[in-house]
Amino acid sequence: QVVTRFAPSPTGFLHIGGARTALFNWLYARKRGGKMLLRIEDTDRERSTKEAMEAILDGLRWLGLHWDGEVIYQFARAPRHREVAEELLAKGAAYRCWASAQELEEMREKARAEGRPPRYDGRWRDRDPSEAPVGVAPVIRLKAPRDGETVIEDAVQGRVVFPNKDMDDFVLLRSDGAPTYMLAVVVDDHDMGVTQIIRGDDHLTNAARQKLIYEALGWETPAFAHIPLIHGPDGAKLSKRHGALGVDAYREMGYLPAALRNYLARLGWSQGDKEFFTGDELIEAFDLAQVHRSPARFDFVKLENMNGHFMRAMDDAELFAALIDTLPYLKGGPEIAAKLDEGRKAQLLAAMSGLKARAKTLNELLDGAGFLFAARPLAMEPKAEQILAQGGRDRLAALHPRLAALGEWSAAATESVVRETAEALSIKLGDLAQPLRAALTGRTTSPGIFEVMEILGREESLARLADQAS
Ligand code: GLU
Repeated sequence: QVVTRFAPSPTGFLHIGGARTALFNWLYARKRGGKMLLRIEDTDRERSTKEAMEAILDGLRWLGLHWDGEVIYQFARAPRHREVAEELLAKGAAYRCWASAQELEEMREKARAEGRPPRYDGRWRDRDPSEAPVGVAPVIRLKAPRDGETVIEDAVQGRVVFPNKDMDDFVLLRSDGAPTYMLAVVVDDHDMGVTQIIRGDDHLTNAARQKLIYEALGWETPAFAHIPLIHGPDGAKLSKRHGALGVDAYREMGYLPAALRNYLARLGWSQGDKEFFTGDELIEAFDLAQVHRSPARFDFVKLENMNGHFMRAMDDAELFAALIDTLPYLKGGPEIAAKLDEGRKAQLLAAMSGLKARAKTLNELLDGAGFLFAARPLAMEPKAEQILAQGGRDRLAALHPRLAALGEWSAAATESVVRETAEALSIKLGDLAQPLRAALTGRTTSPGIFEVMEILGREESLARLADQAS
């Protein structure tokens, strides 16, 4: 059975790159009827926080990337990590090292002077432990092979060769008994039955070291796929301004989880020219072979367009439900939520099709719905005020009694009155519709005004008109 895992360190929010890594693991497992496990790598006690952990779980849930089984916490497994370190010692595949901080610093300095990367020189590798200084706690290091090479057959990077002479006897267990990342990852992945590791390519060199541990233990090495990181639109490291944010920020910006999933999947992976995928289509289509080797470039404009597409593809009730669910996170959302009685909900739902045609995010959708919640007399945007000031108010004065005389209040009925009035005034329809829109919404863009009048109802529409007519 295929088992993947997502293994975030809870030292910050679930950032967009991590979310994509989780998505790839999830898609890969789902496609094969396998499992995606979640392991929180909380061994760094100082930098790991409960808030970050919650944010990661919350972000995954919001994105719909549900993991299988219980969450595994790495720190709790430290005794098992120690046990494996001891096992390696017993096998002669690892050794205790008593090099002092000063000795290690000297090694680093020497390396610096010689212009090569620092590495431990193996001074305790073959030394008799009976020579150990008293009162000093040793670390445990792997007895790494010194010649030959370690090869990673990576599903994305291809065959990557690491000469063993470049790898030193790295630390497995610190002097305080805490496992290093390198040991903990291997032990956990093995114990969790992970068959396929998918993670950022910043871990590629770690893969070679980890493989040495697998081999020393006689364990089967899982398959690797190291995916390129996400860069900014300029090709540089992703900055905050260019999208290096937590997924919670994307929820606050009003993106739909399905759209973000689609966008993240397409970021560095493709299947022909196909842009839009339903959830099931993504699972069906995704595979590691089509993951690109070069860094993906994050592009807000593309994400927005994709989100707009997903919003328009949803039916009104579905989009309405998504909007209501997301209100607490949206700009001005909590205020709107407080005003949402049943009547307003019905109006909002009725306005959905007109609103979604003009919005790319839920924030834009909500902003467009602002006219429903505005108090009289409406605040006017400068452009709307200009239209009213330039003869608009007189035209509205002519229109008001004709609309007030209407029997049935519907979009079709108000439309014919507005058309007749424009004809009677010998002006173009637009020259009447524009001030009408301004009076009804305070803006120069909105869903169709006849629809707007129908949604607002007779009383409110006429009152808004009267407020502006002169
Ligand atoms: N905890 C590591 C990180 O957040 C990931 C380790 C791994 O995937 O092997 O970068």
